[in-house]
Amino acid sequence: MSKQTVRDVNVAGKRVLVRVDFNVPLEHGVVVDDTRIQAALPTIRYLLDNGAAVILMSHLGRPKGKSSFDLRMDPVAARLSKLLGRQVQKLDDCIGPQVQAVCRSLERGDVVLLENTRFHDEEKANDPDFAAQLAALGDLYVNDAFGTAHRAHASTEGIARAVRERGGAAVAGFLMEQELSFLGQAVDDPERPFVAIMGGAKISDKIGVIEQLLERCDRLLIGGGMANTFFKAMGFEMGDSLVEEDAVATAAALLEQGKSRLVLPVDAVIADAFENDAHMRVVAPDQVPAGWRVLDIGPNTLKTFESALGGARTVVWNGPLGVFEMPAFAKGTLAVAKLLAGLDATTIVGGGDSVAAVRQSGLMDQFTHVSTGGGASLELLEGKTLPGVAALSDW
Ligand code: ADP
Ligand code: MG
Repeated sequence: MSKQTVRDVNVAGKRVLVRVDFNVPLEHGVVVDDTRIQAALPTIRYLLDNGAAVILMSHLGRPKGKSSFDLRMDPVAARLSKLLGRQVQKLDDCIGPQVQAVCRSLERGDVVLLENTRFHDEEKANDPDFAAQLAALGDLYVNDAFGTAHRAHASTEGIARAVRERGGAAVAGFLMEQELSFLGQAVDDPERPFVAIMGGAKISDKIGVIEQLLERCDRLLIGGGMANTFFKAMGFEMGDSLVEEDAVATAAALLEQGKSRLVLPVDAVIADAFENDAHMRVVAPDQVPAGWRVLDIGPNTLKTFESALGGARTVVWNGPLGVFEMPAFAKGTLAVAKLLAGLDATTIVGGGDSVAAVRQSGLMDQFTHVSTGGGASLELLEGKTLPGVAALSDW
């Protein structure tokens, strides 16, 4: 990786500012899923073990630039305290004289968590003055918040520049490093055959990713709602299926670009209503009757996908292959998760819903890499530079 990481800097006796992604779901003031907190532990522990004092910062929810009682970081600090087995002091703001005083007095092994950075409008506006105030709280900066690295905000981008402008280092944490190396490598220099699988609702969300992957992969398998728009471009009637009329021309262009590398479903599970207990049938993609809709890939498509995945050394998957939220239409997605889990290949899954589906399959730990960042992972797969990464110190 071209960016420095926590391993490249001396942190002993330093006050280290760490941007983490603690944007976790809360219910009644309690953290209900601490996956993201757990994901940041290796970096935090490393810093503490190496003699740093740690100043953590994150956004939480969408407070729209005002402080909001329900989006304070207190429940997060409580959970982190428990996970780390040491006291984590939560401060009542992320800038200002009191915060400065506490940060100045920190000693090796201390951990503080600043208040929700999005209580200030200046965070999302990437206000340079606000970023400089955050930067002034510590000696060096670590970004371990991959999930927000595609946003140029004060705590992700501005702060890194501010720290570097005064001669300090701004480096990647372990989670960030892992995400960049797996997703970056898959796009830049994949071990081949490289097979990509794309699904989800819409082509329009993911045109850039499809184009990029089509250029680089050996095969691109398409499923989910987006396959319908490809079929429409081939002249098929898709009944009541989700079709993006606006994207039909794009789909036609992608068909032309992809040619033999594109693998489309050969059959589909259709239903007469968007309901789990609707009547279901399996038909060829050009046999969808009026009033019916495609909600999953069919059994022959699975066989086609299985052989297209044969011998693959790298697989990147984004987007569920059916409406997996309903058990009746989750079969295709779960079967593909199982196929990937059984491969002798580097398997990478990204995207909020795709990761939820993999979690649902119980096969999460059989994937090489499950990305923690939805939008950020797509932008990286699209070949874009993430502002939060670009701002870090180069090697
Ligand atoms: P990700 O979050 O992994 O990037 P998307 O948000 O693009 O994935 O797509 C996920 C959504 O796509 C799910 O809500 C799923 O129900 C929907 N979907 C998948 N297949 C179909 C289909 N055939 N018709 C309608 N929606 C679909
Ligand atoms: Mg999604």
